[in-house]
Amino acid sequence: MNIRSKLTLVMILISIVPVSAIGFRAYATIDSELRARTKDQLISTASRQESRISDILQPKTEGLLKLGSQLDYQTALSKFINNGSRTALAEIDDILNEYESDSIDVESVYLTDTEGKALAATNSSLVGTTLAENLYKPIGTSERSLKLQQDTNGIIRLFISTQQRVEGKEIGYLTSVYSIGDLTEKVRDNTGLGTTGETLIAQQNESGESISLFALRFDTAAAFNTNLDSLKIFSTQEEYYQANDYRNEPVLIAVTNVNLTDWKLATKQDISEAYGPIDQLRAAVISAVVILSVFTIVIAYYITRTFTVPIQELDKAAESIGKGELSTRTSVNRKDELGTLANNINTMGERLETFVADIEAQRKRLETVLNNTQESIIALDAAGNILLTNYATKDLTKVSPKELKGKLFDSIFTWKQKDKEFKVDYRLPGVQHYSNLTYTDSEGGDHSVDIVIAGVDVGKEKQAGETQTIVTIHDKTAEKELDDMKVDFVAMAAHELRTPLAAIRGYVDLVGRKMPKSAGPEVVEYLERAMHSARELAGLITSMLDVTKIERSSLELHYDKVDIAAELKIAVENVKFIAKDKKITVTGHGPEKDCWVNADQVALNEVINNLITNAIKYNNEGGTVDVFLKKDGNKYVLDVKDNGIGIPARSMGNLFTKFYRVDSGLTSGNQGTGLGLYISKSIIEMHGGTITVDSKEGVGSTFTIILPEFDASKVKNDESKNDNDTRRKRGWVTKSITR
Ligand code: ATP
Ligand code: MG
Repeated sequence: MNIRSKLTLVMILISIVPVSAIGFRAYATIDSELRARTKDQLISTASRQESRISDILQPKTEGLLKLGSQLDYQTALSKFINNGSRTALAEIDDILNEYESDSIDVESVYLTDTEGKALAATNSSLVGTTLAENLYKPIGTSERSLKLQQDTNGIIRLFISTQQRVEGKEIGYLTSVYSIGDLTEKVRDNTGLGTTGETLIAQQNESGESISLFALRFDTAAAFNTNLDSLKIFSTQEEYYQANDYRNEPVLIAVTNVNLTDWKLATKQDISEAYGPIDQLRAAVISAVVILSVFTIVIAYYITRTFTVPIQELDKAAESIGKGELSTRTSVNRKDELGTLANNINTMGERLETFVADIEAQRKRLETVLNNTQESIIALDAAGNILLTNYATKDLTKVSPKELKGKLFDSIFTWKQKDKEFKVDYRLPGVQHYSNLTYTDSEGGDHSVDIVIAGVDVGKEKQAGETQTIVTIHDKTAEKELDDMKVDFVAMAAHELRTPLAAIRGYVDLVGRKMPKSAGPEVVEYLERAMHSARELAGLITSMLDVTKIERSSLELHYDKVDIAAELKIAVENVKFIAKDKKITVTGHGPEKDCWVNADQVALNEVINNLITNAIKYNNEGGTVDVFLKKDGNKYVLDVKDNGIGIPARSMGNLFTKFYRVDSGLTSGNQGTGLGLYISKSIIEMHGGTITVDSKEGVGSTFTIILPEFDASKVKNDESKNDNDTRRKRGWVTKSITR
């Protein structure tokens, strides 16, 4: 459900619920009021009608009773009964006639005996005839009754009969007869009961049926004697109730007794009419609620529209910007919070556009850089798929970037190290370096490469398709070929120089020994100088051979349990001789024995000697060299510290590369090849140690070697103890340098 629907719903609820409640409440009140009014109206009409009827019946009844109790009538009657006197009957006739002519509405009056025989009558033709029982006799055992009956002519009239007694003995009945025009007229006047209102007078006949006595309003044809049982007039005690009438219409009915009679009077009205206003009211309430609801819905719709339309527009704009259509702007222009939001969205879009343009420009610059570097650069996602490559990658792999894209890095790049398969792991965090691997391109060409694999830490969870790793491959095939050629040449030259140099040294030595005693001291000096130069040359040759071996990874070391403290002590002793020339003091510090390491004794000595010799060589007259040895955990730390010329900062990075010598006026007086530190570093690293330098130009330098302590498990017992050749030769070189 969106905001608009919710808002609309809330507005509808807020407005419709109370309106409906009020509407239905009013309806309920009016409904019960109307029902009560209908009831009152029917009941009061009934009693009014009843009193009208009574008003008509009462004087008629009273008149007859009065007639019956008239003295002359009584006298004449008892005369007739007691004596059978005809004159008495004639007297009665006269009295009856007089009564008839005195009362306007009496049609006839007659006296019958108990058998119905007319004894006297205003209608003289009746006298002597016997009347039908219903024309003279009260119903049942009552002494008096009012009845509607058809007379001998079939016309409905009102018969009021009263029992006649003489001296307490029942002798007959006195009956007066009336037309019923005045009664029906009164009953038919319905006094405000609408078009379906009706008044009925009912009586029970001998069979107990409820029958109508007057002409009915809706059934005039069968007015008299119509069966009114369905109206339950006599079968209920209720004064007001609901029933179906003789037309089978549902009606509301109010019933009352008619005074002086056993009649009942009922007023009734069709429910459809009586409750018509209620139905109309209900319809009105319902339509009011419906109209109001529709109205409310329309209003709510328009009100919410004024809020939700701009919100939807803003939502669309934000969504579109979110999808990358950064030029999208919203046209919502208002002076409220929505207007502010619209401005913010537009500003955000502008900023993003600029930002993305900047990123794009940066990306292009980066692409240019990438494509113009010599190194192959490859971006991988978390699954190791290739996302991006540069031109150099194509040169290396001989595969187009298109083909590379999406391929698994491992399926394109397989590596070998020393002819064995080698796995690189591009999933590790941080930076991994791999050197001297061989890669075979798609055309079968071998490349010697170094690899750097760097995990990209973007500081968030990585998504598929995002760069996780950058692989940089440095193809050094060409450099290596050149290097190999150089190494080959140096190896060959060094090798070729060894034989003539041995001959020169042999002959100089021989000349020295065979020299006549008469030879002057300058000849001895020349010979010594020649010998010194030859030794230096031999040292250089050995160093060069060492370098070629290191380069070809064929330098073999022979590890023994070596006491580095003892070696150091000897080395310090040995150099004191040359140090003296420069008035330099060399001092050893720390233990003098029992500092055991796994080492090639000769190679280790070469390193130590080179460091100490350098410390003397690149020192000033009167300087000092201090050699410290100490144990740090399971490592030995050796510091060779001088207070000599120091090393300029710019040279520090190159110190351990081959043939490098610091280019400075201060070093120019010293002989050297620039191989010592290169060889030393290679040897120390082959021992599993490190060599570092700390130096300040003009202050001095400290070279530090760290070597792991002796580990018996690393000694191979049978290892090359007999390889004296290498030892001897290297030892020879060492001595040459140090002496
Ligand atoms: P080689 O040792 O091969 O005879 P070298 O001494 O010149 O020649 P390295 O031992 O490799 O070669 O030293 C390289 C360079 O480092 C030296 O030429 C020198 O310039 C500088 N260097 C080495 N040790 C020191 C030091 N203790 N003080 C100042 N400079 C030094
Ligand atoms: Mg040196």
